[in-house]
Amino acid sequence: MNIPEPNVPRIVIIGGGFAGVNLAKSLANSNLQIVLLDKHNYHTFQPLLYQVSSSGLEPDSIAYPLRKILKKHKNSFFRMADVEQIDATHNQITTSIGKLHYDYLVIATGTTTNFFGNASIEANSMPMKSVPQALNIRSLILQNFEKAAIANSEEARKAYLNFVIVGGGPTGVELAGAIAELKNHILPREYHDLNSEHMQIHLLEGADRVLPPMSKHASTKAEAFLKSLGVKIHTNVFVKNYDGIEVTTNSDLVLKTETVIWAAGVTGAPINGLNPDSIKDKTNRYIVNRCNQVKGYDTIFAIGDIAYMATENFPNGHPQVAQPAIQQGKLLGKNLIRMTTNQTPKPFTYHDKGSMATIGRNKAVVDLKHFKFGGFFAWFIWMFIHLMSLVGFRNRVIVFFNWTYNYINFDKAARLIIRPFKK
Ligand SMILES: Cc1cc2nc3c(=O)[nH]c(=O)nc-3n(C[C@H](O)[C@H](O)[C@H](O)COP(=O)(O)OP(=O)(O)OC[C@H]3O[C@@H](n4cnc5c(N)ncnc54)[C@H](O)[C@@H]3O)c2cc1C
Repeated sequence: MNIPEPNVPRIVIIGGGFAGVNLAKSLANSNLQIVLLDKHNYHTFQPLLYQVSSSGLEPDSIAYPLRKILKKHKNSFFRMADVEQIDATHNQITTSIGKLHYDYLVIATGTTTNFFGNASIEANSMPMKSVPQALNIRSLILQNFEKAAIANSEEARKAYLNFVIVGGGPTGVELAGAIAELKNHILPREYHDLNSEHMQIHLLEGADRVLPPMSKHASTKAEAFLKSLGVKIHTNVFVKNYDGIEVTTNSDLVLKTETVIWAAGVTGAPINGLNPDSIKDKTNRYIVNRCNQVKGYDTIFAIGDIAYMATENFPNGHPQVAQPAIQQGKLLGKNLIRMTTNQTPKPFTYHDKGSMATIGRNKAVVDLKHFKFGGFFAWFIWMFIHLMSLVGFRNRVIVFFNWTYNYINFDKAARLIIRPFKK
């Protein structure tokens, strides 16, 4: 891997997501050697992936080069590599580009889409966890519009214009709102040969309300916002199958569609090699203690979505959102410095800053500890927080410019089929 043997401890971080990046940043002033590994050479700001999928933003404005994040740390190395195996006995990992010894290993690999073992759904539906996947969705939506325009039967046209989103959590809700904006503002203006009324957006949720992790207040408001945009909401509905033509469910709801976007859940994807006892059943997350040490290992840590830390306030582990990942990354950086200088590490406590979701222009819901609200002010707060959380000044300026342009013109300018999607 061409990484020099250090005379200080080597920290190997697998994953440059929210957790890994914040850990690397918090070690910037230490004298430790940092090796950051990721299968991509960029950090992805996942909360805005849905805007790439719905043509609101270009992908490069929500991604950021990982080497640039490390530039201030002299004793740091980035390698683009897929980590395949951990050998805890010899403190070594195997990657797609070779083997590497570690003194401390941090697993920050996030999660992957959960298809609940249904191969047909996995083969035919569209996940949205990465930039390439978001671009696939963007291409498919735009290709469908073009195909609908030349379809020779009403049935075929409707299937191209029928968009089914499975999962009514924040991702599904935000995407449904954004696709509804294409229907309401772009189709009538630019697709004169299509009847925008034929475009349907169905949001399917297994629970009895959308946004189940948020308050009832937020769910009620979000449902009203979605309905006002023309989204059809189906609650208490579980998808049984999708064969590429028809979605079947546990109820008598059957939908013919060319597009199913799967936002129904995530699962951990542990790396081979660690003791199965260190992995929590069902969620596939590494069981960690309050210092993020993986169960049974002193020098291996897990942070962010892949870590399962049960505490009094969070007996089922922390929510798989950005804040626990950021906070764990920051604290583990400080703790690694403590551990390598013979000091005691500090236990992690999650500071819940609240949650939010947006449902299109001027519409969002915000849940704070003592205060819940929705509407224009919530939308403004949502925009401000997401803008300021983006990595990189350039990205913030580009996103701000795009949002302002789209707001004034009711437009989504990134409607380009640059890399066609083949089913
Ligand atoms: C569409 C979507 C919308 C979301 N919206 C929100 C939101 O609005 N608010 C919010 O708080 N949270 C949101 N989340 C959740 C949030 O993005 C995650 O909780 C957060 O990204 C977790 O950070 P992480 O560092 O643990 O993992 P990630 O950010 O997923 O990073 C993991 C990294 O590890 C790399 N990796 C994985 N396996 C390997 C391997 N074997 N070898 C090398 N590299 C590997 C990946 O390439 C990736 O870069 C959203 C998630 C998605 C998918």
